[in-house]
Amino acid sequence: MNEQNNFLLNEMKTPLLQWYRENKRDLPWRDQNNAYYTWVSEIMLQQTRVEAVKPYFERFIRELPDIPALAACPEKKLMKLWEGLGYYNRVRNMQQAAVTVTEKYEGKLPESYEELLSLKGIGSYTAGAIASIAYGIAVPAVDGNVLRVISRITESREDIMKQSVRKKMEEQLREIMPEECPGDFNQALMELGAVVCVPNGPAKCSSCPVRECCLASRNGTVQELPVKASKKERRIEERTVLVIQDGEQTAISRRPGRGLLAGLYELPNFEGHLSREEALRTVQELNLDPLKIEPLEPAKHIFSHIEWRMTAYRIRVSSLESYKGKKLIFVDRKQSEKQYAIPSAFRAYVGYMKEENDEDFKYRDSVL
Ligand code: SF4
Repeated sequence: MNEQNNFLLNEMKTPLLQWYRENKRDLPWRDQNNAYYTWVSEIMLQQTRVEAVKPYFERFIRELPDIPALAACPEKKLMKLWEGLGYYNRVRNMQQAAVTVTEKYEGKLPESYEELLSLKGIGSYTAGAIASIAYGIAVPAVDGNVLRVISRITESREDIMKQSVRKKMEEQLREIMPEECPGDFNQALMELGAVVCVPNGPAKCSSCPVRECCLASRNGTVQELPVKASKKERRIEERTVLVIQDGEQTAISRRPGRGLLAGLYELPNFEGHLSREEALRTVQELNLDPLKIEPLEPAKHIFSHIEWRMTAYRIRVSSLESYKGKKLIFVDRKQSEKQYAIPSAFRAYVGYMKEENDEDFKYRDSVL
């Protein structure tokens, strides 16, 4: 590796570790020395902030305290435990890996970086985090926070979205990993990126423990780094969501087993922005008899490659019993909260689902 980088990274180790030990946040998955907890927390944290993850993590571990419990968990319950975290493939992959670990490793995550890497859904970052934090193996764990911190310290202008750049940083870190505390070192770098060398807003260089070794801070280039090639633009999809209800229940349906939000439940929704008349016709085509219709506020949901722009109607029908198809099922809100995982894409409209024994709705803008 470049000698200057090696020198800078070596120099920052001691102040970084000291700062981490004095300032680390108290998190429910830390200091437990439990590889399963490290795994679950790292997967949850991939797309979600620490504060938001805490209650999810605690509930998940309470319900599924070990890997065999995760392997045996019914899909519906698993989706429910993940509801709100999004990117449901993460938990599906975790369950597949848990089955492998139960069958092949007696329910305990293997203590080798390479074997961890061979498990479904575990990439170099997660394998590095588990191996170093839970098993004390000196391997790096490079996530977005670490990429940002290292780019700034070494003043690297390489595109951090490239796999080759991540690999290079892993190699640089591998050379200077402290053998006696690799877990603390990796967590210290992640923590620095999360609370000091932050992704949004100005980096807090004046209170940074490694500023003496940071080229970007020295040369005034912090704002320009890291370099990140802009992502492909998201595809915009217009959809119309229908909250179809009788006096008691609301119609939901299950999404196909493959593709976006695979296998989860949803409020019925259709391509395009339907007019009021088109929405009513759609409901009639389901052999339902609409009595009232109310337009709801539009909403937006952003997935990694797609953005849904939703309009919606709440439609009261005389009875859901006239429906003869197989796709829709009818639930009240309590049932849905307990049994059916409805992804956060529908958050804006789930609140309209009826509680058992709710008073009748007050439709603001009724027709028919
Ligand atoms: S000195 Fe500033 S830019 Fe450098 S690592 Fe610390 S917070 Fe980040």
